[in-house]
Amino acid sequence: MFATSTIHINRKALESNLQIIKNYLGPNVTLSSVIKGNAYGHGIEVFVPLAEECGINHFSVFNADEAFRAHKASVQNSTIMIMGMIENQDLRWAIKNDIEFFVFEFDRLSAALEIAREVGKPAKIHLEVETGMNRTGFNNTQLTKAIEILKKHEELFSLEGLCTHYAGAESIANHARIKTQIRRYRSAYKKVVSHNLIPKKRHTACSAAALSYPETIMDMARIGIMQYGFWPSIETFINFIGKKENKQDPLERVISWKSKVMNTKNVKTGEFIGYGTSYIARSNMKIATVPVGYAHGYSRSLSFQGRVLIHGQRVDVIGIVNMNLLIARISDVPQTEKGDEVVMIGKQGDSEITVASFGDFSNQLNYELLTRLPMDIPRVVKLNREDLDIYDK
Ligand SMILES: *Cc1c(COP(=O)(O)O)cnc(C)c1O
Repeated sequence: MFATSTIHINRKALESNLQIIKNYLGPNVTLSSVIKGNAYGHGIEVFVPLAEECGINHFSVFNADEAFRAHKASVQNSTIMIMGMIENQDLRWAIKNDIEFFVFEFDRLSAALEIAREVGKPAKIHLEVETGMNRTGFNNTQLTKAIEILKKHEELFSLEGLCTHYAGAESIANHARIKTQIRRYRSAYKKVVSHNLIPKKRHTACSAAALSYPETIMDMARIGIMQYGFWPSIETFINFIGKKENKQDPLERVISWKSKVMNTKNVKTGEFIGYGTSYIARSNMKIATVPVGYAHGYSRSLSFQGRVLIHGQRVDVIGIVNMNLLIARISDVPQTEKGDEVVMIGKQGDSEITVASFGDFSNQLNYELLTRLPMDIPRVVKLNREDLDIYDK
């Protein structure tokens, strides 16, 4: 192992989160595990087979590259669905390999049909409808035209789904907009069905929509952040917990991120630490360098304010986060030595650093920090029973 830090994936936590989500969705709803952004930083290659062991057989990705990786990582022949980008030239690969994809504009629609004809195999498409997010999706007029085209080529596609995405279901501030979107989706569904095109799955919900607008769950829900043990927002957490006796957070974080002390040093009062004059020792102090910096996904914006765990204690990140290292003040844990474990995210003893505590409890930060964790940090899976660590690299 040559890496300076490792990302640990807790299988038991994942299994428990998925069970909670499945119970919430109910028995007749497919849970599509959203693994875009390198499985929210957890690592597609490690995450897919683990989720499959926990009963998942449907994955949503953003683009063709992620679909390729997920397809390769899958050991149970799961369904892979591309929600965003795929070049027309890659549709051939997708269709041949049963990769499903969203269709939200005519160029992709005609390319898909044309390639399906050449390949001699129907394209597995999900029609995305515009309901008010104004990002992608056929609006009402375009949908009419898309239906017309599809009706002429029924042998060239199978309509796997009819879908849309909500513009901010995690906040009550968007309530009216979401309600409008739900209404428009229903009317689009009626329209498609009235032409005798029957989508196999109606799917619209992400984590927040599934939590705050249960009517959006339909035949399938595309769940990302919750399966990793995070709530889309405080509001959605409160909504969920409000109806429960037990007010404890039932979700468990799947990820943790660890490194080791590279060296320690005593610094005298009045000395500057690190580049320039940004940090001055106001007392004699002991510091530790940790070989993790912004090049490894530890944001420079955590300069002066990050925290890490050493010997079960929360200690301050002092000065500016460098490209490849950060400095922690360890005066309160003076027994610290080279090689001691440092936790950037996760638990140590009774303490925990959550991703959210990296800043204020801003949910966007959860998504961003996780997905920025570099792909090349080795992922280590913590298994249930044996408590063995298995390295994937
Ligand atoms: C990211 C995404 C999801 C999942 O969102 P979460 O908030 O992580 O559950 C669902 N649908 C689409 C189209 C997405 O882009």
